[in-house]
Amino acid sequence: MSLLEVADLKVAFHTSDGVVQAVRGLSFTIDRGQTLAIVGESGSGKTVSTQAILGLTPEADISGRALFEGVDLLQLDEEQLRRIRGSQVSVVFQDPLTSLHPLYKVGWQIEELIRVHQPAVSRKAARARAVELLGLVGIPQPGRRVDDYPHQFSGGMRQRAMIAMALALNPRLIVADEPTTALDATVQAQVLELIAKVQREFEIALIMITHDLGVVAGIADEVLVMYAGLPVERADRRTLYYRPHHPYTKGLLESIPGSTGTRGGRLKPIPGSPPSLIALPAGCAFHPRCPYAMPVCVAERPPLSTVTGDRGHASACWLPHEAVGLSAEAEAVRLQAKGS
Ligand code: SF4
Repeated sequence: MSLLEVADLKVAFHTSDGVVQAVRGLSFTIDRGQTLAIVGESGSGKTVSTQAILGLTPEADISGRALFEGVDLLQLDEEQLRRIRGSQVSVVFQDPLTSLHPLYKVGWQIEELIRVHQPAVSRKAARARAVELLGLVGIPQPGRRVDDYPHQFSGGMRQRAMIAMALALNPRLIVADEPTTALDATVQAQVLELIAKVQREFEIALIMITHDLGVVAGIADEVLVMYAGLPVERADRRTLYYRPHHPYTKGLLESIPGSTGTRGGRLKPIPGSPPSLIALPAGCAFHPRCPYAMPVCVAERPPLSTVTGDRGHASACWLPHEAVGLSAEAEAVRLQAKGS
């Protein structure tokens, strides 16, 4: 049994403008110790999916199944979900200040988290654990910095403190939602390295949500690409970077700044913008932006189906199931994936 099995997840929001179909049928599994990257532009449904699973979208209409160790999270009440969040599943957000309270010391917040979920732990033991965790994530002089307020930490240190909090209760799964987007490139690399290190060390499953395929090139086992609320391609990391099938995945790979910078080539952003989730295009939702669009793409939605000869590789596209060629500009990213 997988640690988390999500099947046909659908999430919709009723607004005065109409129904926003944020997620329209998402299925995936993740095993212990595995890293799954969920990648897509904003509005692709990548964040809403995990928020819905964890009970963080109370106003949404949700259907499907999300079995966490055999228990369907979508059937639990708020109190049951609250117990699972923070203890068995931790979330690391892009902006640590959404989780770190500015008026309380960093160490105190970690201690509180431990004591709320594990009341038998003494204040002294929780503090010792907070210091240990801050040291583990690379905060210098953790015995002293434990009494700092969040504003006394740099952006990178705050994100490290968030990771310390995420680890505090020995979770089985961490959901990291754009955890490094707000950081500069050097700190971003350090934080990614830290996440990968703790994930390996403690055999935690990790769902990494990002808009940037370059970010997960070095750490993902599996990559799931989403567009307009649907999965459009799924493959192991090497397959996705070497033999992408879906034109949207190809576009994401070619729009990674690092790849062009390394090669001296030009950045190729995907033309156009994602569709409205209230009035979705017919057929393949990517067709208005796709350079390969054919009449069938407008008429019928392509199912997510196995790419010929690539077990575990699936794509939702009417193009023949052979890899769509990539420009040389994605080479650096592929090399990064290969080297790690
Ligand atoms: Fe492009 Fe058609 Fe494939 Fe959609 S189904 S990605 S429009 S070729």
